[in-house]
Amino acid sequence: MKEGQNKTGDMPVEEFRKYGYQVVDWIADYLKNVEKYPVLSQINPGDVKSKIPAQPPQQGESFDKIIKDVDEIIMPGITHWNHPNFMAYFNSTSSAPGILAEMFSAALNVNGMLWKTSPSVTELEEASLNWFRQMLGFPEAFWGIIYDTASVSSMHAIAAAREQVSQFLFRKKGMAGRAEVPRLRLYCTEHSHSSIDKGAIAMGIGVEGIRKIPVDNQFRMIPEELEKAIKEDKAEGWFPFCTVATVGTTSSTSIDPVDEIGDICTRENIWFHVDGAYGGIAAVLPEMRHIFKGIEKADSIVVNPHKWMFTPIDLSVFFTKKPEILKRAFSLVAEYLKTQEGETVQNYMDYGVQLGRRFRSLKLWFIIRYFGVEGIQNRIQEHLDLAKNLKVEIEKDKTFEIMAPMPFSVICFRFHPEQLSDEKSIDEINEKLMSEVNATGELFISHTKLNNKLVLRIAISGIRTEKRHVDQAWKLIQTKAKELI
Ligand SMILES: *Cc1c(COP(=O)(O)O)cnc(C)c1O
Repeated sequence: MKEGQNKTGDMPVEEFRKYGYQVVDWIADYLKNVEKYPVLSQINPGDVKSKIPAQPPQQGESFDKIIKDVDEIIMPGITHWNHPNFMAYFNSTSSAPGILAEMFSAALNVNGMLWKTSPSVTELEEASLNWFRQMLGFPEAFWGIIYDTASVSSMHAIAAAREQVSQFLFRKKGMAGRAEVPRLRLYCTEHSHSSIDKGAIAMGIGVEGIRKIPVDNQFRMIPEELEKAIKEDKAEGWFPFCTVATVGTTSSTSIDPVDEIGDICTRENIWFHVDGAYGGIAAVLPEMRHIFKGIEKADSIVVNPHKWMFTPIDLSVFFTKKPEILKRAFSLVAEYLKTQEGETVQNYMDYGVQLGRRFRSLKLWFIIRYFGVEGIQNRIQEHLDLAKNLKVEIEKDKTFEIMAPMPFSVICFRFHPEQLSDEKSIDEINEKLMSEVNATGELFISHTKLNNKLVLRIAISGIRTEKRHVDQAWKLIQTKAKELI
């Protein structure tokens, strides 16, 4: 037994106090100095693993040594999502109140599977999601639950959609080997997130059960095409059961017309899920509520506070008007989990695949309280403004072009010097530009394909991103681009 160690083997409380302060100091320094790190980790595959012994230590090690290895082994392999110049994908940054909430959550270590197993977990989730729902302007009819990620939220939407088709008794009889059951069809677009396809695969719909509806020139689902597809499918014996619209698609942040798609789904009695994992947060601004016009027609919605609301990953919010269908899909109460409270409380384990649940609502509650609705609105507005201004700057430089409309704070653009005219060379020079920019460690941007063209993306959604970072990013891109011609 190490000196000072108590009988349980855990760290003695006084030692915890000492290291606790030390870790908080470490975190504070990290947040203060995050800009000094290269945004994108500069290491090679295998570098981290090669520094970790292949066998676990037989004897316990000192905490000093463990912390030292965080600095020496782990930190070089970190890509800094918290860095103000992380402008790739959709940035997700953590804020101080969120970090502190995670400390409470780990310390309390409660499991909110049942109301009874920690009433505060269930009741704070209910209360904070009620706040969050109001902040986004969603009707009261929407009930909420927290899952880890949007991928899992959408998978549960598809599970509920399948359960809604009650006549086939999928829960009881399964889907395979049943000649009397038609093939189910789910509709989305090629711009929907891959998690929709994965969710459909997980739910037994099959890749062929996913039909991608054509989009217009702004990458939005064309409602008339959806209507046509449903009609065609029905004539061919498919059973349309679910449509997914996206508010803020992953490539270009386009917005599918929720209102019109909602009408079609209502008429056809098809489950209507809206994926607003990133873009949905913008609805905290009343002027942005138009993105969800017609949302009352949706059966379910996903919005991720861990993307654009400064919440440490992971925290995804799923809303549905039909929690009873979700419950019907999953509720399975073993004898040892039966409690006396009955219908007076809700047990979140009934609404999904997982039993154990972390105390995630704590961080949502901390963040909403610490920032206040106005504080969150101000940050989101700032990001929208920064992106608008940068777009103007990009437009001024005739060697660049904007490649998609910009409803939120993600700019899709590319370098297109007049010397180059064939698409292949333009793709190549943009790929080169991106890798050179990212190799500097000063900025991290990503790419996508739109209409078969390689397009660069700058996403401005980090809490630490200010005007000077955006200016610096643009200057770097311009400098590197000039060097390429
Ligand atoms: C990021 C994103 C997802 C996936 O989110 P996870 O929480 O990482 O699963 C799904 N849909 C959209 C539109 C997204 O932007």
